[in-house]
Amino acid sequence: MEKKENHLILYYKSRLLDLMNLETASSLDDWVAVVAEVLSADHIVYYKPDSENTKFYKICGFYNPFRHDVELVVPSGKIKALKTASQVVTNGKLQKDPYLKQFNIAFFIPEKNMEDGCLLLSIPNRMFGELSDADLQAFVRESRNFLQLKYELSVVEADRKRYIELFQVTGKFHSSMDTDTILAEIIYTLKRLYPVFEYTLMLSDDYHHNLDLPIKSLQYDAVDEMALESYVNGQVHLATVWRTNETMLYAPLRGKQGVYGVLQVITFANYEFNRSDLEFISLLANTAGSALENAKLYQQSMQSIEELRLINSVSRQLNKSANLKETVDFLMEQISSSFDTQAIGFVMMENGKMDLLEGSSPIFEEKEGIRYLDFANRSFADTKESLFISNLNQRFPGRNYCFSSLMAVPIIQEDDLKGFCLVLHEAPYHFSFDRFKLFQSLIYQSGMALTNSMLRERLEKMVITDHLTQLFAKNYLNSRMETSIGEDEQGTLILLDIDDFKKVNDTYGHQVGDEILIQVAKLIKENIRSTDIGARWGGEEMAIYLPGVPLQTGVQVAKRVLAAVEKNTNPPVTISCGVSYWNKEMNETVESLFNRADAGLYHAKSLGKNQVVISDMEMKAN
Ligand code: GH3
Ligand code: MG
Ligand code: MG
Repeated sequence: MEKKENHLILYYKSRLLDLMNLETASSLDDWVAVVAEVLSADHIVYYKPDSENTKFYKICGFYNPFRHDVELVVPSGKIKALKTASQVVTNGKLQKDPYLKQFNIAFFIPEKNMEDGCLLLSIPNRMFGELSDADLQAFVRESRNFLQLKYELSVVEADRKRYIELFQVTGKFHSSMDTDTILAEIIYTLKRLYPVFEYTLMLSDDYHHNLDLPIKSLQYDAVDEMALESYVNGQVHLATVWRTNETMLYAPLRGKQGVYGVLQVITFANYEFNRSDLEFISLLANTAGSALENAKLYQQSMQSIEELRLINSVSRQLNKSANLKETVDFLMEQISSSFDTQAIGFVMMENGKMDLLEGSSPIFEEKEGIRYLDFANRSFADTKESLFISNLNQRFPGRNYCFSSLMAVPIIQEDDLKGFCLVLHEAPYHFSFDRFKLFQSLIYQSGMALTNSMLRERLEKMVITDHLTQLFAKNYLNSRMETSIGEDEQGTLILLDIDDFKKVNDTYGHQVGDEILIQVAKLIKENIRSTDIGARWGGEEMAIYLPGVPLQTGVQVAKRVLAAVEKNTNPPVTISCGVSYWNKEMNETVESLFNRADAGLYHAKSLGKNQVVISDMEMKAN
């Protein structure tokens, strides 16, 4: 006949089933309470060994503190001394120990990979009559199964909680493009889940974070070989340092394109991370790695957009403005707002000498500022490489530079140094390398435009000036006369021609002829005002236009020049002059004014040269 299961054991099983109900997560206290209820115990304590098996710790208990004495820690030997082949020990052995004798039964409940736990009880004597040895064995078996299951459930539950955390934190990571937020979230999540560990984030980049977080730079920590190894091969590493009695876990912060740092977890030596902890921590580290990667890519793209915008607006402006001053002013403004500079100097090279452009910071006119320009100029003469110096005083100790951060970019054309732009800031490490790269491309972009507008300005000046005499050119005289006829009340034109110039050339040679031209031009310039226009009309013919000047005064000027030439040229020459005049009533054009002056000049020649003839009256002006 099949033996019927003891009703107490059946009841115990049903109560344990209740405890398994997940809705109300049960604790070991609940279990001990059930045991006490089923076995009518008034005193029950559950002990488990520590990892080194030297002591047993009270895990939970159910007792009356006024009647019972309970030890929190019991030496292993005392409990082990109880052990027999059976997992249930009653009276006899317990009586031998002054502490243990307050109990009358002990159960040893096996656990996976661990020394058995020990459940000590004091139960009424009648219980021994109700429970056979087989029942007691069944009790141990059921208890073991329950604890085992409960442990497994607790692992699953802990995992579940962690993965919920991971899920939430992943959401946060991906909703944030801010590196600081992501770093803080990694640490906070770990602290919440594993509050007993310590954490350090070792990052491969210099993040300028303002947070009070345990963040280190991986480079400076070159001694930490394990961290570097984990960073380089992208794998989790464990190491125990006996000197400090610590065990370290290194998990790489890995994204899709690279590793961004290492998470260091510190705990006490020999702590055994179980597989799910390792999996979880490395998963979190990887999630953080890809979040950091995203944030970085986002920041990079924002930066690129800003850079493109800057370069675009600069090149548009450069194409628009023809004038050097305008170009330089615009560039200075862009540079000072985009790079947060304290001083900007723009230098153009003129025959090997530095020419500081207008609009540069005043410091560059002073001794202190000139030091930086000289330094850059020497450096560019040597190599044409841009300069990026984060700490001048560290680089050149004892020179006491007022500014520590310097960037300078040369403007090179056809392998020649055409100029450079130099910026300064007092604070060391003020400019980042990224900013330097941007500064460089900005100057490369504008260098061409700058030298072009400089060339254009020089060219324009050249075109309006006659090379030999440095008088204005004929075109310029024409356009000035046109403006004057449109704007002024009156004006006088003098055309003058050197007498018998052919002879001068023939007698002394062309070079002396040229010198005579220069002498005459100089005399013209000396005898007119800065608002008057002295021009070379062609060959040995010159012209003077006097805007707003009446005929009488114009004739006086012509006579003055005539006298000066006769007296002050060497070899001596004379000139003939034709004068024409206009005012508002006369409806004069530039062409007719020239024609009349030319007629006057022709007349002066025919009258014997070295004289002034006013065309209008076709008469000699005596
Ligand atoms: P006139 O008194 O009638 O003006 O006689 P002229 O010899 O001055 O007149 P002509 O027009 O016959 O000769 C002008 C000379 O000026 C011819 C040319 O060789 C010379 N000439 C023109 N331009 C230059 C120049 O740039 N340098 C030199 N040295 N001579 C020039
Ligand atoms: Mg002539
Ligand atoms: Mg002549």
